[in-house]
Amino acid sequence: MAPAADPHHAPTLAVIGGGQLARMMAQPAIALGLPLRLLAEAEGVSAAQVIPDHVVGDYRDLDTLRTVTAGCSVVTFDHEHVPTDHLHALEDDGIAVRPGPGALVHAQDKAVMRARLDELGLPSPRHALVTSVEDVASFGFPCVLKTTRGGYDGKGVWFVSGPEECAEPLRVAAETGVRLLAEEVVDFRRELSALVARSPSGQAAAYPVVASTQVDGICVEVVAPAPDLDPDLAGRAQEIALTVAGALDVTGVLAVELFETTDGRVLVNELAMRPHNTGHWTQDGAVTSQFENHLRAVLDLPLGSPAPRSRWTVMVNILGGPAETGRLYDGYPHALARDPHLRVHLYGKDLRPGRKVGHVNAYGDDLDDCLERARHAAAWFRGDLGDHSE
Ligand code: ADP
Repeated sequence: MAPAADPHHAPTLAVIGGGQLARMMAQPAIALGLPLRLLAEAEGVSAAQVIPDHVVGDYRDLDTLRTVTAGCSVVTFDHEHVPTDHLHALEDDGIAVRPGPGALVHAQDKAVMRARLDELGLPSPRHALVTSVEDVASFGFPCVLKTTRGGYDGKGVWFVSGPEECAEPLRVAAETGVRLLAEEVVDFRRELSALVARSPSGQAAAYPVVASTQVDGICVEVVAPAPDLDPDLAGRAQEIALTVAGALDVTGVLAVELFETTDGRVLVNELAMRPHNTGHWTQDGAVTSQFENHLRAVLDLPLGSPAPRSRWTVMVNILGGPAETGRLYDGYPHALARDPHLRVHLYGKDLRPGRKVGHVNAYGDDLDDCLERARHAAAWFRGDLGDHSE
């Protein structure tokens, strides 16, 4: 449905993908008076609930992409799955694709990403492409096997300790027609994330480096800034993120997920070229959120300050609990009364076990207090602390 004419004469920004990241771009878009047009995969998905100017269709279909981007000068993304050929076709149509296909491929394909990092002299876990059990054996057990494309939230990642455990990953790779990457098992102290926003003019803003906790391959908690991080290592992580953003000509937000090794180094795990779960803390904990800086960056507007607003911010994801734990709204009276400083962000998604349906942010001067408040609220919403109707 076409919206009324925009009184601010701002350009309409096309966003592909109707998940929570697109939904959360809508908040700063409202504040800045930026019209968004969305391609949603289905009616009623997370971002389609809040962006009235949306088209429902398949992002793998070029005609659909052309319909959505018609009249838009810039297109950006909620996910990295749009086929590269389609992105080139949109560029040929005169639309600025941000981030562009040449950058995005490094977030789509882990083998391409590893090769490019090697060229840039940036640190990765030891790695090799493998096609057989023999290849994996000569790489050495134990190791991590990863499909180079299509993995997310720990899917497409296997820890293997012997030849018999390679059958499943090799089968999945063969069936899906993707390559398989072997990596050394990194002995890491924790996982870090370095987030930067970069505009086409080359302006960049680096957020403080954060620590993230993953359970079963899913990010559950983020602490900003990473507690007790050696300032030199924090600087190195930011430098890596800025180098990647510049060298790959990334526009918008880039998240570099890193391992902090037990012997005091940082190694790049993966790249994401969009707002990222490890940056959700910025909504309440930074002067400019990652979502706002993503919009500013892809529109080539000056970036906002990434400085933190308070000493600590803790983000905890709300994951769907067992199916019968009811409705998230039922959790509001207790969660909001218990902690008037808590910031809650729900995505408008149906509850499914393990699915990310929202997150909370708690900020303040005392890290333990922030952790307790954010963890309590997330556990409450999940239904781990009892029945909300009691
Ligand atoms: P995804 O594409 O699902 O995000 P990742 O490559 O980030 O996959 O891997 C998921 C999780 O598996 C990581 O967050 C990390 O905890 C663990 N992991 C991945 N690679 C390695 C590695 N080389 N060594 C040790 N742990 C790893």
